Amino acid sequence: MNYSLPESAYIHIPFCHRRCYYCDFPISVVGNQTDLTGRKTVEDYTSALCQEILHTNAIASVKLKTVFFGGGTPSLLPIGELAQILKTLNQQFGIEDQAEISMEIDPGTFSLEKLQAYRDLGLNRFSLGVQAFQDELLARCGRSHRVKDIEKAIALFEQVGIKNFSLDLISGLPDQNLNQWQQSLEAAIALNPQHLSCYDLVLEPVTAFGKQFEPGKKPLPDDETAAQMYRLAQSVLTQAGYDHYEISNYARPDYQCRHNRVYWKNQAYYGFGMGAASYTNGQRFSRPRTRATYYAWVKDYLQSGSVDCPQTSECDRFLETLMLGLRLTEGVKLSQLNVSSARIEQLLQTLEPYFHQQWVVGLDHQGKILSFLDQKNFDKIKAVNSIDAIALSDPNGFLFSNTILTALFRAFKDDLD
Ligand code: SF4
Repeated sequence: MNYSLPESAYIHIPFCHRRCYYCDFPISVVGNQTDLTGRKTVEDYTSALCQEILHTNAIASVKLKTVFFGGGTPSLLPIGELAQILKTLNQQFGIEDQAEISMEIDPGTFSLEKLQAYRDLGLNRFSLGVQAFQDELLARCGRSHRVKDIEKAIALFEQVGIKNFSLDLISGLPDQNLNQWQQSLEAAIALNPQHLSCYDLVLEPVTAFGKQFEPGKKPLPDDETAAQMYRLAQSVLTQAGYDHYEISNYARPDYQCRHNRVYWKNQAYYGFGMGAASYTNGQRFSRPRTRATYYAWVKDYLQSGSVDCPQTSECDRFLETLMLGLRLTEGVKLSQLNVSSARIEQLLQTLEPYFHQQWVVGLDHQGKILSFLDQKNFDKIKAVNSIDAIALSDPNGFLFSNTILTALFRAFKDDLD
């Protein structure tokens, strides 16, 4: 099996002021202080991270095309540490001149000087964790920022001339109503981002929300309201000129997130830092999720020189490529699945009910939607191999994606193992 070569790196920066009530990410809470310069916790973490990078096999001919600093709150990382990580990445892998270098950044955690330093270090894309434009909702989620901090953050972007930024919003928050969601979408558009991510709240059992609430029950919106919120985002944002290119993501032309597309295309990538996942040489690996266990793992890794994890099976790759690719509006090319024509036939049979419901669509070689309105037409199109790719329809296919993915998983999991 030929695997794609990793040309992307995800760097996990775990520090946050506090833990938001819905968040189960691997983080370290550092309190209210925003300047963490000289904090031993941060220096130790950066040192472990850089050792991990330096110990990873590089492929001489392949430089990084995307780097993504995620978290956590990467904007809490002091500039010195950020520069050290970038220098280490460049030394080990090389970073292409035109690389997309993104950072997740939270309102209230950076200054003008910090933004200027980011720009000087080559960072060229910022993802601002806005979440909502109502102070009461931000407080309800345990966020450490308020609406005035969002306004200040955008004013700083303007001062430094940063245009390539994305805003993150969350729908389905406790007591959030449709009007508030519409206000948040409109307020976000007014700030002129090139990209927006709209996530529906997911209740994770270990979080404060997960312990307090039940999905679909008050104060959370019921399923119908959650679906209305999804449709509203799709309609408001596409009318404002954003392409709905992924189930939760919208972008102006040429501003899709290149780094995240690597995940959705099921291509290889490096991951560094506590809790970070990587996918290299057909092996998926997630690092330990606390600082102490991550440090112990790095120490072991430096000594043993390898990561012990199983190779993904043909079944895993087939299902992962499908499930990740179907998140994209452009869908998955059948040729990308790398399986026999009998397997493709089985796939289309499994999806047939959803083709008829128009939750799944077939695309021709030009990316145009093929018509599947009746059984005869479906059989004919299938027989002449005119389906180049399959995709979920927008918004219905995306809304019912769980049903479709569950059907795929059931149909193939045992079969291919
Ligand atoms: S700022 Fe982000 S990573 Fe940190 S606790 Fe809140 S949601 Fe989680």
